[in-house]
Amino acid sequence: MLRGLMQGRPLLISSLIEYADAYHGDTEIVTRTVEGPIHRTTYRAAHRRARQLANALGRLGVKPGDRVATLAWNTYRHFEIYYAVSGMGAVCHTVNPRLFPPQIDYIVNHAADRILFLDLTFVDLVEKLAPALASVERFVIMTDRAHMPKTALEGALCYEDLIAGESDAFAWPLFDEMTASSLCYTSGTTGNPKGVLYAHRSTLLHSYAACMTDVLGLSARDSVLVIVPLFHANAWGLPYAAPLAGAKLVFPGYKLDGQSVHELLEAEKVTFTAGVPTVWLMLLEHLAKTGAALPHLERLVCGGSAMPRAMIETFETKYDVRSIHAWGMTEMSPLGTLGTLKAKHAGLAKDRQIDIQVKQGRGVFGVEMKIVGDDKNELPHDGKAFGDLLVRGPWICSAYFRENKPAVDADGWFATGDVATLDADGYMQITDRSKDVIKSGGEWISSIDLENAAVGHPKVKEACVIGVRHPKWDERPLLLVVPVEGAAPTRDELVDYLRDKVVKWWLPDDVVLVKELPHTATGKLLKAKLREEYKDYVLPTAG
Ligand code: AMP
Repeated sequence: MLRGLMQGRPLLISSLIEYADAYHGDTEIVTRTVEGPIHRTTYRAAHRRARQLANALGRLGVKPGDRVATLAWNTYRHFEIYYAVSGMGAVCHTVNPRLFPPQIDYIVNHAADRILFLDLTFVDLVEKLAPALASVERFVIMTDRAHMPKTALEGALCYEDLIAGESDAFAWPLFDEMTASSLCYTSGTTGNPKGVLYAHRSTLLHSYAACMTDVLGLSARDSVLVIVPLFHANAWGLPYAAPLAGAKLVFPGYKLDGQSVHELLEAEKVTFTAGVPTVWLMLLEHLAKTGAALPHLERLVCGGSAMPRAMIETFETKYDVRSIHAWGMTEMSPLGTLGTLKAKHAGLAKDRQIDIQVKQGRGVFGVEMKIVGDDKNELPHDGKAFGDLLVRGPWICSAYFRENKPAVDADGWFATGDVATLDADGYMQITDRSKDVIKSGGEWISSIDLENAAVGHPKVKEACVIGVRHPKWDERPLLLVVPVEGAAPTRDELVDYLRDKVVKWWLPDDVVLVKELPHTATGKLLKAKLREEYKDYVLPTAG
């Protein structure tokens, strides 16, 4: 081999904010703050404050490789933490505040987070959790002095005070591009949440890919509303891709209702936005109720759960917004496929085009995909054969954090847990899920955890939980119960029993008593069969 003679500058996250400062310094970052008012800053100011924060973290003793956690909404402060922490060589661990508190405990302890940044909305929660968060040395409340609450959190610091006195002189260090940059736990599997540990290199390559025209297509003329949370797979890469493109960033804080989202879309002349179907449903409801329009919005990416056909149709035909269906995973940084059309589809009738757009999309360069049958043999790309979807690529995880085993097979393929078809044009369509989880409003519910909790009830002999279609949340849990001989537990009785065992939004929407449940030869519940059987089941909450 003859070695190339090009520069080996490492691909580092700090270069993104340096670039945005140098070339798009006056481009805005707008936030609906947790405190309430709209806040405006720029890439230049955010870069300066990220350097001040890096100095502050150094003073608090944060070293390269240390984990620094956030429990926070999408705001400019959260964005600054992203860059300060990763830029200095530490690891930004975004914790999902919607998890059941014991899971938050588990995750923070597993990651051994040393500092925890939290929004005002989570002070009560963290006060309760604090005794269990053994590794956390410092809590930083992401607000200013005027809004600092009285708190039982020992030695809690105020974010603005923390950085106020710091110098903005900080030279981002150069290091190996495979260094860990951020950490995000996913519950998209069975058992405890697993940590996906991103690297600087994977993040930079993913950011380049994200900006491509047929992916997110970001440019310096875009105004980007980041609806997907910063704690969901790095908000699908937008906090990195937007500075790379020089696009304006708009952060919604915690208000994701239709009216609040619409206000930002209008006021900030948003051209691009991304989020899960539940949020877009709330926006469409608001638009229908008020008769409002979307004159600025050009493209809307929808993923995390399947984008319903009617939603694509409404955005495209009624509001003239291009709907881009996307699929990915926390383990994939997360972008995998995007549903953009090809030249040969231009002449098709709208209906036929939407037939293609309802599929999850075609693979992005950098993501190899294949489908395999039970015998592990590859299946044809004919749009009909379906099998387990495997992926491979430079921004796909190879192992989970602190698990001493690979998460991929001998050839480097990662099993997604999705069951899909692939067609001759490369479009992938999900037909089922082999992992035992339910996705409600973009968040995971573990059916196994619910089943284990339900069988604790004295009247329950066996329990099975499956996801059933729901118009607002995409899927909701349905609990199927085989009662013990002679018993007939009621729905309310069982749901009440689960109340202190799982977070409220995990509670099953309905309970059905059955005589028996189908099993495989090895005694496992045959969930695919049950999902098929109950696919048209109408939940009492569906109205
Ligand atoms: P997460 O790691 O939480 O981002 O979840 C990833 C999983 O969400 C995938 O493996 C799919 O099961 C599901 N998912 C993501 N996007 C879509 C989509 N567009 N349609 C259907 N399921 C999706």
